[in-house]
Amino acid sequence: MATLRFQALKETLNRKPVEIEEKERRSELFGRNVFTESVMRQFLTKEAFQSVLEANATGKKIDRTIADHISTGMKEWAITKGATHYTHWFQPLTGTTAEKHDAFFETIGDGLAIEKFGGGQLVQQEPDASSFPHGGIRNTFEARGYTAWDPTSPAFIYGTTLCIPSVFVSYTGDALDFKTPLLRALHAVDSAATAVAKYFDKNVTKVHATLGWEQEYFLIDSALAASRPDIQLAGRTLLGHSPAKGQQLDDHYFGSIPSRVLSYMRDLEKECMLLGVPVKTRHNEVAPNQFELAPIFEEANLAVDHNSLLMDIMNRVAERHNFVVLFHEKPFAGINGSGKHNNWSLSTDTGVNLLGPGSTPMKNLQFLTFFINTIKAVHDHEELLRATIASATNDYRLGANEAPPAIISTFIGTQLTEVLDELEKVTDGKLSPAEKTELKLNVVGKIPEILLDNTDRNRTSSFAFTGNKFEFRAVGSTANCAQPMTVLNTIVAHQLKEFKKEVDGLTKGKKMKKDDAIFNVLREYIKQSKNIRFEGDGYSEAWEKEAEKRGLSNNKNTPQALKAMMTEKNIALFENLKVMNRVEINARHEIELEDYIMKVQIESRILGDIARNHVIPTAIRYQNILIKNVRGLKEIFDEGFTEHSKEQLEIIKEISRHIEKINSGITEMIEVRKKANKLEDAEEKAIMYCDEVKPYFETIRYHCDKLELLIDDEIWPLTKYRELLFTR
Ligand code: ADP
Ligand code: MG
Repeated sequence: MATLRFQALKETLNRKPVEIEEKERRSELFGRNVFTESVMRQFLTKEAFQSVLEANATGKKIDRTIADHISTGMKEWAITKGATHYTHWFQPLTGTTAEKHDAFFETIGDGLAIEKFGGGQLVQQEPDASSFPHGGIRNTFEARGYTAWDPTSPAFIYGTTLCIPSVFVSYTGDALDFKTPLLRALHAVDSAATAVAKYFDKNVTKVHATLGWEQEYFLIDSALAASRPDIQLAGRTLLGHSPAKGQQLDDHYFGSIPSRVLSYMRDLEKECMLLGVPVKTRHNEVAPNQFELAPIFEEANLAVDHNSLLMDIMNRVAERHNFVVLFHEKPFAGINGSGKHNNWSLSTDTGVNLLGPGSTPMKNLQFLTFFINTIKAVHDHEELLRATIASATNDYRLGANEAPPAIISTFIGTQLTEVLDELEKVTDGKLSPAEKTELKLNVVGKIPEILLDNTDRNRTSSFAFTGNKFEFRAVGSTANCAQPMTVLNTIVAHQLKEFKKEVDGLTKGKKMKKDDAIFNVLREYIKQSKNIRFEGDGYSEAWEKEAEKRGLSNNKNTPQALKAMMTEKNIALFENLKVMNRVEINARHEIELEDYIMKVQIESRILGDIARNHVIPTAIRYQNILIKNVRGLKEIFDEGFTEHSKEQLEIIKEISRHIEKINSGITEMIEVRKKANKLEDAEEKAIMYCDEVKPYFETIRYHCDKLELLIDDEIWPLTKYRELLFTR
């Protein structure tokens, strides 16, 4: 018997839901372990408190002596919460979060000790950073990297550690993390959007981007996960035959949540509440054992931190419940993958959602301005937007076999399409009073204040407008939202600056009225960006053909998609807005290629090992059983044995054929890998891994999966899809 598999199954079947106590209301738990404004008021001097608020609002630097006050207050608060250590908490380009704990504890001689946390320690930490990916920014002789406090995201306590959200930069000041460019992009979009929002309301002084992510994931029992080397090492199954029943019946989506899972979710939500992560929605997703969690949206930087924190908490809480969380975009072939929809909008400090239609024609013109500029930005930079969501793992969800094409397009619904069609007809130059009245009353004025409920939904669009926000759906479930958010906010910032330049050009010297100028510029943008708008089935082949005709990019894999990062146009875009410099872009490109290569290489090795060490030996064992059977039949039936052993002989031959294909496939795959590894250039290497190594995955898998169907279930060593997906 395949011991590990059956032991794991037995263990799983015996599990009970973990009891979760919920004595307190969630609203009372919310933010309890966060250094919030009200806590600051309590623990900080007035001056220190003011200075944090100012840093938040205007980005003003915090004075070093004041930092000492802040750190002391923070430490006192943290100690009352049972914290013993502090850490700068940051998001290096590895894709996970990083921390290095230091104790508050310090000796002061004479056998005495105190708890100490100075301003210097709050503001800056120097982790030994040489083993974080840096894409050549840091030479090994200058391996220093610094983390620096980001006061715009509040400190929090996790376990017994005070965590201080931080950026991570090199000695030369170049970004080594996800947060630094994000903060710069948010700054860029703030100044560009504020300038445009002032056309409509002089009182606007700040615009912040908002982000509401939706996190999809699979939960697998930890014993079952441990019985699969591929899940353990790659986070996905590299082989496994589809179960007889998959997701065809749609009986899981929004169905009742299994009790062990519900208990996990409640535990997780409790942790989220304590840490101030405003999770709100939970439900089953389309695939069996697939779920989703979504918070109330927040300012983008905070939302990004919260998503990174959440992914970490999800793993930790899962341990208590004997689950493993699979964040992989496509853990199971033939079964829906997981994404992380990024709902995005812009919001003013006067409380207006700039992508929400308003109650007056003027408010709607403001809405249309931001709406059309976003579409134009996506149109002009679709290839770059595609690049930000490229990864080895997301490749299985985008552009691959059973996945939707990797084309970026926007969906806006029939109602808004009609509005844009009308606006396209606006007169060139000055508008007559009659036309303007007509426009305001019957076009702009006709946009209902609440579009939300009557916006059509199109789940196949990669970038859909959903009533008062855009939803970037192509983002992968493992991704750090900072990447798509950095690029989206950068391209919108760039676009809004261009828009302002054009409108100001037309109104200069009172040539044209502001409204007329806005209508004129928007009209041109609508025409210029038409190709990115698509209302049909974004998953269809017809769309792929149509998109090609329109000249939209369709980069099916990561090495191809990443090229867009390195075009002169895009480097200039980032440099002009001071989001990233050439060195930083170069480094990121290099790191992403390396990451891609490593992921494919690791999967290739795992697949080779499993196929040779698990599948082939099992196939031979079963073949021997059949051979013994045939021998026995020969003994009993003598000459007539062929009639009785015909099928067995067929299976024996079939097993040999599959073994041959698997083994020779692995040998060839290793040869190609060796060749690829000799390449110096990361891009060439990534392309070779993509085009020449990866195709072996499919053939090797195909034959392994065929064997799974042939071989006695009792001795098959790998936990099967039906067991992974349907055991609760
Ligand atoms: P669904 O997309 O499943 O229909 P909703 O439209 O209610 O659900 O919201 C999905 C996500 O969008 C939630 O995380 C929500 O917080 C977020 N969201 C709603 N409004 C905004 C906004 N103005 N900016 C950013 N995110 C938003
Ligand atoms: Mg959604």
